[in-house]
Amino acid sequence: MDIAANQRPTSELQELDRSHHLHPFTDHAELYAKGTRVITKGEGAYIWDSEGNKTLDGMSGLWCCNLGYGRKEIKEAISAQLEELPYYNNFFQCAHTPSIELAQLLAEVTPAHMNHVFFTNSGSEANDTVIRMVRRYWDLKNKSSKKVIISRNNAYHGSTIASGSLSGMDGMHKQFEKLPGIVHIQQPYWYGEGGDLSPEEFGLKAARALEEKILELGVDQVAAFIAEPIQGAGGVIVPPETYWPEIKRICNQYEILMVVDEVICGFGRTGKWFGSDYYQLKPDLMPFAKGVTNGYQPLGGVMVGDRVAAVLSTKGGEFTHGFTYSGHPAACAAALATIRILKKENFIERIEKDTGPYLQKRLREFQDHPLVGEVRGLGFLGALELVSDKETRERFQPAGTAGNACRNACIQSGLVMRAVGDTMILAPPFILDRQGIDDLITRIKRALDLTAKELGML
Ligand code: PMP
Repeated sequence: MDIAANQRPTSELQELDRSHHLHPFTDHAELYAKGTRVITKGEGAYIWDSEGNKTLDGMSGLWCCNLGYGRKEIKEAISAQLEELPYYNNFFQCAHTPSIELAQLLAEVTPAHMNHVFFTNSGSEANDTVIRMVRRYWDLKNKSSKKVIISRNNAYHGSTIASGSLSGMDGMHKQFEKLPGIVHIQQPYWYGEGGDLSPEEFGLKAARALEEKILELGVDQVAAFIAEPIQGAGGVIVPPETYWPEIKRICNQYEILMVVDEVICGFGRTGKWFGSDYYQLKPDLMPFAKGVTNGYQPLGGVMVGDRVAAVLSTKGGEFTHGFTYSGHPAACAAALATIRILKKENFIERIEKDTGPYLQKRLREFQDHPLVGEVRGLGFLGALELVSDKETRERFQPAGTAGNACRNACIQSGLVMRAVGDTMILAPPFILDRQGIDDLITRIKRALDLTAKELGML
């Protein structure tokens, strides 16, 4: 990297950015009017921008730098691998040590019945791969009519045409033709859609929407169900306790493949290695990405359960799918180092037993704040849903008013929290201890108070 580029004046960097860079998920007219924020450095749980502002990163980058910035072991593992073998592919009956060792380590940390992995470079590619595998599996089982994948409204599974079709975001679907054979059912979002039902009743109702859809389409048409254990980008939606057991029953009863998207929940976020461990699920396919390399290298993949792996690896000859960088050696080296740190330094157990419950307890204090309708979260995931009337759950108009104001107030308060509409979401790095969490809470309080003042609530 050209380090000197970071020393250019901010205005010059912003002008270059404006002239040449199209950003992901960005309204460019808005961005160009304001100018991008140039991030120049990261250390521990903090990032710095080109103006020297230090900010607590409450989102771990984009739900990926779970061990924070500047972990030397990961950097050194990448660097050593680049010295030894910077690239070779895993096609044509070849492999290399890092891809082999990572496959073995992933089989060890994932649920017991998952012993095979297919490598990709991102979560989107992992979910594209899911579609290919699901189709291939049913073809090889001589049940080619089973093609439909059932997903959920407001899910996020990526933004390629295929993974974006699995996603359930209206804003995305307005911009391209969804693939055929992918349908969406209700999400388990009790606060927003539960009406007068208790969370438990609503959880069952939302799960039974899957059964209704299977029966409506016919079991012989349905291939799989896909869901995140906890919806992340949709607003950290933690399903009611009744939801997953009922989904499990339905997938088993109708023998459809269960795909659990662990791109956010995987590698410790819930206080278990995987969301599937937390909810005691037995997925057939488990796409992952992000935290597997601590965000230091692009790597994703699909963990494949034994019953699917047995079919894919023994029947039908070649599976005509793969990417040049599937199992890139430097990315695998980053993942090996990351997983070894997670194991050695007991971060996941700490989230389960200590820091996770502490974060959740402290977040619940905001339930009394005039702006906050619901606090939800689990482990090191959290959300504060902002409303104009706590009694009626009425939102500010237009939608996003409070979220935008709060996101700006967060920056003013030295904190990155992301706004999903009017829900503020949080996925802090695992390295925060109780003191770090107290600091996070102080910054959130400052941001909420600033927002409430701006909206005339305080
Ligand atoms: N699945 C989930 C659950 C995600 O949250 C994301 C990204 N936020 C993806 C898939 C897509 O991953 P990527 O951006 O690496 O393509």
